[in-house]
Amino acid sequence: MANVVVVGAQWGDEGKGKIVDWLSERADIIARFQGGHNAGHTLVIDGEVFKLSLLPSGIVRGGKLSVIGNGVVLDPWHLVKEIDGLRSQGVTVSPETLMIAENTPLILPIHGELDRARESQNSVAKIGTTGRGIGPAYEDKVGRRSIRVADLADDATLETRVDRALVHHNALRAGLGLDPVDRDKLLADLRAIAPAVLEYAGPVWKVLNENRKAGKRILFEGAQGSLLDIDFGTYPFVTSSNVLAGQAATGTGIGPGSIDFVLGIVKAYTTRVGEGPFPAELTDEVGQRLGERGHEFGTVTGRKRRCGWFDAVLVRQTCATSGVNGIALTKLDVLDGFETLKICVGYELDGQRLDYLPIASDQQARCTPIYEEMPGWSESTEGARSWADLPAEAIKYVRRVEELIECPVALLSTSPERDDTILVTDPFAD
Ligand code: GDP
Repeated sequence: MANVVVVGAQWGDEGKGKIVDWLSERADIIARFQGGHNAGHTLVIDGEVFKLSLLPSGIVRGGKLSVIGNGVVLDPWHLVKEIDGLRSQGVTVSPETLMIAENTPLILPIHGELDRARESQNSVAKIGTTGRGIGPAYEDKVGRRSIRVADLADDATLETRVDRALVHHNALRAGLGLDPVDRDKLLADLRAIAPAVLEYAGPVWKVLNENRKAGKRILFEGAQGSLLDIDFGTYPFVTSSNVLAGQAATGTGIGPGSIDFVLGIVKAYTTRVGEGPFPAELTDEVGQRLGERGHEFGTVTGRKRRCGWFDAVLVRQTCATSGVNGIALTKLDVLDGFETLKICVGYELDGQRLDYLPIASDQQARCTPIYEEMPGWSESTEGARSWADLPAEAIKYVRRVEELIECPVALLSTSPERDDTILVTDPFAD
């Protein structure tokens, strides 16, 4: 009778896909609570590859309800495309298996245009967005000019909402040298797509609360990573939503007291994509080796991820801000064969030792890592499924990580394969 929230506890790409898939088999409902169609997951089930970027991973498993909560921003055209793709692979998507919160804000084509125009014109403010309009859609939500799922059901409301949004957007577009929005086309496109979205619309908060009372297991699937959180991340090089576990409550309409377990996904070393501070970054051959062994290249862009040793300071901080009860430590096998391992245990800033990452960007950029060294192991941990399969040094490394981040390991992942996992604590256990 437990509800579990899964969050990335570093900069994303921690290996959430495998763990969420593993957990979703045990859940009745799988809900997304933030982000948009930028949460790339590849699931391999019985040899078949499924690619998802918006729908919760549970959608490919029969007999479960997948939920898109109000904390998400929804591109209706992308939704239809993703559903069509899954159907062509034999997956059933119906109002019985998918529900979208009526108060979910929409991503419109004008949001993507804005994203791309800004990124191409303003080299000073480059944040490295995916260009899918997610940031501008969140801006409109806070600016109270979003078109939300429920607005699609009433034509008069839809027109009013579109006009309200366009007052802002046309002014902005003029400043960026873009043509004004074609109002009639936008309205026609929205009217055309409306039935395909409304089919799944419902009061998610109510359905989740009823199911919770009925003892169903709900898995809240986070996207990105805690250090990309709009408030607690390395601002402004962050995503445009809250990604911490608390967002699972406001992003779906369930009370925080209904969350029984927060699982933080943590990679056994550190990576970051794109710009922004990264104190433990290694630009030498060790960083290169971590990247090669860990296949640290962007799934869509092929862009090389920046790599570094495990940063216990950051993970202790993200475990605190998300209230993590236990971590899933992934990619331990990538550390096989290193003679010595280092863990960042503090920062030095202006001659002082810090045990947390300060908020100010200039201070973040000046923090230099203080390392602790540990002996590595020459044996392979790849595919280990029990503690007995691990070399003593690997166990010591895991234990030291737990001590430093002040949080226990609940799951340990030793390969991309689903079953190559050591279970210590079942997050769904009563
Ligand atoms: P996400 O962005 O956090 O969902 O991360 P992904 O699901 O994209 O995972 C990143 C990559 O790491 C994928 O290619 C996974 O197959 C791989 N991966 C996950 N866990 C492990 C592991 O324990 N060991 C290794 N070697 N690879 C893993």
